[in-house]
Amino acid sequence: MDFEAFFKSELDSLHQEGRYRVFADLERHRGSFPRATRHTPEGPKEVTVWCSNDYLGMGQHPAVIAAMHEAIDHCGAGAGGTRNISGTTHYHVLLEQELADLHGKESALVFTSGYISNWATLGTLGQKIPGLIIFSDALNHASMIEGIRYAKCDRVIWKHNDLNDLEAKLAAADPNAPKLIAFESVYSMDGDIAPIKEICDLADKYGAMTYLDEVHAVGMYGPRGGGIAEREGLMDRLTIIEGTLGKAFGVMGGYIAASTALCDFIRSFASGFIFTTALPPTLAAGAIASIRHLKASPFERVRHQDRVKKLRSLLDARGIPHMHNPSHIVPIMVGDAAKCKWISDILLDSFDIYVQPINYPTVPRKTERLRITPTPLHSDGDLERLVDGVHQLWSRCALARAVA
Ligand SMILES: *Cc1c(COP(=O)(O)O)cnc(C)c1O
Repeated sequence: MDFEAFFKSELDSLHQEGRYRVFADLERHRGSFPRATRHTPEGPKEVTVWCSNDYLGMGQHPAVIAAMHEAIDHCGAGAGGTRNISGTTHYHVLLEQELADLHGKESALVFTSGYISNWATLGTLGQKIPGLIIFSDALNHASMIEGIRYAKCDRVIWKHNDLNDLEAKLAAADPNAPKLIAFESVYSMDGDIAPIKEICDLADKYGAMTYLDEVHAVGMYGPRGGGIAEREGLMDRLTIIEGTLGKAFGVMGGYIAASTALCDFIRSFASGFIFTTALPPTLAAGAIASIRHLKASPFERVRHQDRVKKLRSLLDARGIPHMHNPSHIVPIMVGDAAKCKWISDILLDSFDIYVQPINYPTVPRKTERLRITPTPLHSDGDLERLVDGVHQLWSRCALARAVA
């Protein structure tokens, strides 16, 4: 086989479908986020970033940076091994205590990413619990889908956030089979929020465990940043809460929080936990500082919600359609793949505004969008420049306006 020709022809078809991904070559500057330098063939340019998942700007918070400096000066660069073979540092132990406390659980277990935490936990539960059926929301993240696939257990996909469909599927399953319901709190692309309480009620009724991915909520919701389940007083009703250290906490890594026995079980049986080098102590130290700061400080969360509200009202004033949802994710609905990509390109090249277009297959065709994530660090002027740019390009594309 001509391998090179194969790779190229597969890439060509991505180009033809307009799905080829181009990464913006950015350099973030501590102290000036959301500003960044973009490296282009014509030289460097200053841009404003509008699509970062560093939702609160904690990636440059002085407390986080100081903790990371201290850890690297104190104990060097890498962890030096898997958690089992000399890779567990005191920072990992403290981080797991901090996370268990954040979610009101007995224990927590840290992984190298949120992706791995979903994949390893769901995969291990599905492989090890005899006859387990996993009920998975249709819009669950790729990492959950891959974990369930790897488990090779029975799986049932229920319609997104649809309690009637979930109940019908639970009722249709063998009443004696062990069950687990896997879902997210805030969904990344539409920014909608799951009915967590009602899902927990169904779980109780049918004897199922619950697995909640709070990746897009931790740090941002609840009095201490414990997520939507904390805000709604539901943390004790969830069997497992999963989160990331890489988005609102601004660092990197993933975790689950659950009972001591469950965390110990995953620690002891999950290949994706056991056979990989532990997070560097610097990352664990930075995450601890970030979580501690956000537990005590409502400032970032209040300012974040204020920025979101302000952006929505500026968009409404110009009649630019955006999806109305109860979260911090503001999807501006373009509804056309070529126009979505074009607006994003021109915003970047002519307005120095960076927002990645979201096209199929990430979202369904005809719902192509610009997914805007305002942070506490975007100023009023930033918001106005963004909406002004989108407004001008909206007219040039002859896109419909929303009726105010
Ligand atoms: C980003 C994401 C993950 C993966 O987390 P990482 O820490 O980035 O690996 C898991 N679940 C959802 C819903 C996500 O959006």
